[in-house]
Amino acid sequence: MKKKRKFLLFSCFTIFFFFFKIKFFNSLFANFNKRNQTGVLTHDIVLNHLISIDHPEKPERIIELIKLLKKKKLGILIREINLKTKEKNWVKTIHSNYHIKSLKSKYPIGEKSSLTAVKGCLQGIDEIMKNKHKNIFCAVRPPGHHALNTGKHEGFCFYNHIAISAKYIQSKYKLRKILIIDWDYHHGNSTELFFYNDPSVLFFSTHDANAYPRTGSPDRTGSGKGKGFNVNIHLPCGTTDKKIISTYENILVKRANIFKPDFILISAGFDSRKDDPLGCFDISDKGFKTLTTIALQIAENHCNGRLLSILEGGYNLEGSAKAAVTHVETLNNFYKNI
Ligand SMILES: [Zn+2]
Repeated sequence: MKKKRKFLLFSCFTIFFFFFKIKFFNSLFANFNKRNQTGVLTHDIVLNHLISIDHPEKPERIIELIKLLKKKKLGILIREINLKTKEKNWVKTIHSNYHIKSLKSKYPIGEKSSLTAVKGCLQGIDEIMKNKHKNIFCAVRPPGHHALNTGKHEGFCFYNHIAISAKYIQSKYKLRKILIIDWDYHHGNSTELFFYNDPSVLFFSTHDANAYPRTGSPDRTGSGKGKGFNVNIHLPCGTTDKKIISTYENILVKRANIFKPDFILISAGFDSRKDDPLGCFDISDKGFKTLTTIALQIAENHCNGRLLSILEGGYNLEGSAKAAVTHVETLNNFYKNI
């Protein structure tokens, strides 16, 4: 009888202990996850490239952004891009040998900076796919969405980082449908070009079609099998939060729900923010918070939150840093609220 009681007591204790232990580790794990949704990837190499003194696309764009992230206690998210990431063959999925060779010989420092950005993007995708992070922001320069195969940089861009990323996701991870959202003030003409016939990439761009490179007409909707998968929205000077948010809510969300992406990439240009020396939109940091939330909601509804965001333009040093940090903050806080 005594033995039986002892056994019962021991069993109760064991069950209680294991239950408590599981609960404890679950809550610990949940808290850990809550703290580490987002990663920010960058590297000092991207600070070396200089087009000319007083050029708006300058290293301070990244320096100010990183400084503000640290000030806002988000420095914990920042990690260095692993330079050992193999990118060579992936760059060739978009760019010709002529272009690569020409950039390397004409602008070795700029080319290396853009190549480091590519490495960061590929690393970011790997980390998302390994569930190390829910989403990643690449704080890199130069921008990439105007890069063609002309053997020179176009609109400050050398390689198209986002286009290479899309090819990488499709080939390495066999995820077919990629949604590219481009909210830079300028049209992502290169991204459009490389996927114009391709129904596996939905390209959604909001921009001022009257600005450089003067492309991005809403009439350009794709061709062949890619017809209908290129969405250009021209927005005029003075575009407000209300206008751009309603465009995303009414057009992007609907298109994305039909397309059902497997992965989302953002060409995150902040020259569409108010007070940018190269843009004329009137979008506030709060506006970027909403755009980011819309993208996150689409990612959560369709692809388990998989989202990589890559810095494009943004030339008001203080303003762009504020908008980018709001973007990162929103990426990182999203899962705490659902
Ligand atoms: Zn731009």
